[in-house]
Amino acid sequence: MSENLYIGADIGGTTIKVGICNERGDLLQTFEGPTETDQGTDRILSNIADYARKIVSESSHTWEQVAGVGVGIAGFMDIPKGFIKFSPNLPLNNVPLKDYLEAALNKKVRINNDANVAALGEAWGGAGRGVSSCVCYTLGTGVGGGIVVEGRLIEGFSGMGGEIGHMSVVPDLEAIQCGCGKMGCLETVSSATGIIRMAKDAVDRGDRTALSVFETLTAKDVIDAAKSGDEVAQRIVSRAAFYLGKSLAAVAVVVNPQRFILGGGVSAAGEFLFAQVREVFHKYAQDKAQEGVDIVAAELGNNAGVVGAAGLLLHA
Ligand SMILES: [Zn+2]
Repeated sequence: MSENLYIGADIGGTTIKVGICNERGDLLQTFEGPTETDQGTDRILSNIADYARKIVSESSHTWEQVAGVGVGIAGFMDIPKGFIKFSPNLPLNNVPLKDYLEAALNKKVRINNDANVAALGEAWGGAGRGVSSCVCYTLGTGVGGGIVVEGRLIEGFSGMGGEIGHMSVVPDLEAIQCGCGKMGCLETVSSATGIIRMAKDAVDRGDRTALSVFETLTAKDVIDAAKSGDEVAQRIVSRAAFYLGKSLAAVAVVVNPQRFILGGGVSAAGEFLFAQVREVFHKYAQDKAQEGVDIVAAELGNNAGVVGAAGLLLHA
């Protein structure tokens, strides 16, 4: 008997990436096509369905082997109903995505938000392989998060489970308002955007730093400057690492995961960042909640989304 296969689709503003996974979370094949956002809602929906069929027809597998299709997408949604209420970067508002795809593909369909899906991808087929409980952080433009406990993705009462980027960690005196409207969220300091903002503030204040020569700063510029000894840049990266480490310590006593997985652009700073995060974590986390717990780098990179989307059929 041939094994069951799962298709994952990662819907971005410019491209839709689809992948085929087996039951163990191995990514067997990927395909990428344009989202065609400018062509409107119907075209986006038909593209998702077309690419899902295309990746199978161009593979050595059969459509009958496909046990289901999972979709990861940025936005606010009713996860059980698979209904997209609003998407920040796509013309998908009040769209019954799950119903549409189930009718178009005649397969079981599950959807979830992109951060949860990326976390599940890492937990199932990436750095969390073999670990039943882990918490993932994606340190990019924002801070995305996802919690997998005993192989299940935690969605929460209203889909807000795992929104670690909006954990309020910065004290009021130093806090700024987050994009979500609240004060002091982790993502205001530990995302690429947060790091760039702190660097710009330092330059504007007239701090003596190599960063003042840049016309447009990136988080990588700040991290590289910190690595080469720039004290202002080091202070900024340490601050990002400090609040990250403190949030891990808080999550450790709530979820008690075996592993923390850090991915996204900022995590490319590597050991320079990880060592600081571990130090803060070990200082603040309860002894029993940190015993045997490791903090590792994500492994799947841009494929985490398709792997996790495919995994929704088995883990949601
Ligand atoms: Zn927030």
